[in-house]
Amino acid sequence: MIYSPLTTSDLANRKAALVVGHPGHELRLHGWLEIARPHVFVLTDGSGGAAQSRLNCSEQVLREANCEPGSIFGVFTDKQIYELIINSRFDPFIALVTTLADRLRELDVDYVVGDACEGYNPSHDLCRIVLGAAVQRLRSQGMPLLNFSFPLHSRPDECDLPTDYGSVRLDLTNDQFERKMAAAWGYTPLVPEVEESQRLIGLDAFRVEWLRPTSTKAGFENLAAWRPYYETYGEQQVASGRYARVLRYREHFRPLADALWEHATSQSGTGASTRSRSLRKSAVA
Ligand SMILES: [Zn+2]
Repeated sequence: MIYSPLTTSDLANRKAALVVGHPGHELRLHGWLEIARPHVFVLTDGSGGAAQSRLNCSEQVLREANCEPGSIFGVFTDKQIYELIINSRFDPFIALVTTLADRLRELDVDYVVGDACEGYNPSHDLCRIVLGAAVQRLRSQGMPLLNFSFPLHSRPDECDLPTDYGSVRLDLTNDQFERKMAAAWGYTPLVPEVEESQRLIGLDAFRVEWLRPTSTKAGFENLAAWRPYYETYGEQQVASGRYARVLRYREHFRPLADALWEHATSQSGTGASTRSRSLRKSAVA
């Protein structure tokens, strides 16, 4: 049995940060959000194809759960991320790793939680590799923070790592679950997704929340053997004339991952002197 350094009973008194690709992901961990009260960092504004930011909806969720928005909050659109990756423009993401690591150090967090790398959406996978690189950088500087992920595409109530291996399982009380569902149904732009989850897996699946311990290299290597869904989706978009080019793992995403890992491991000693900058909308992209 492997000792778990974080248990469910620790959640209320350890400092946490949540780092997600899109506003609204925090709803999946709403029970944990209320207990742990993390600083919440969001990479994109969630506009997607709708051209409408949903940051204000997330700000309301965070306010009601007594959580603080982080200094990185909606700095990209998905379109910008797609274009930067496909054109091999990695500098904004390297700067993002430095800024995130600096801020996590300032906050002195004990653990971070972020999107899992599922090969489903490039912004989710980007979030995972940015967070992994930031954690790697901080660990190299002697900060032993723990690194967890949670799925956006897979079922929320399933986890292939048992608690003996460091996973943290949270079973929501009825009150916690009701507040979670009220927040989800009140998040207007995501109501179609809530309805789809209700139809596909049933909302009771969201009574359980898992934090899964994750390697800092997650997303840097584990997609090499299979074809991510976003490539298939991109091909469909190109065929219909909506995208000009397909974002591919080997050609585009993997070189970005390599650049971030190189940054995380080669400059680990210099971060302490780098001042954190506040990144708000369009400050980076
Ligand atoms: Zn998302």
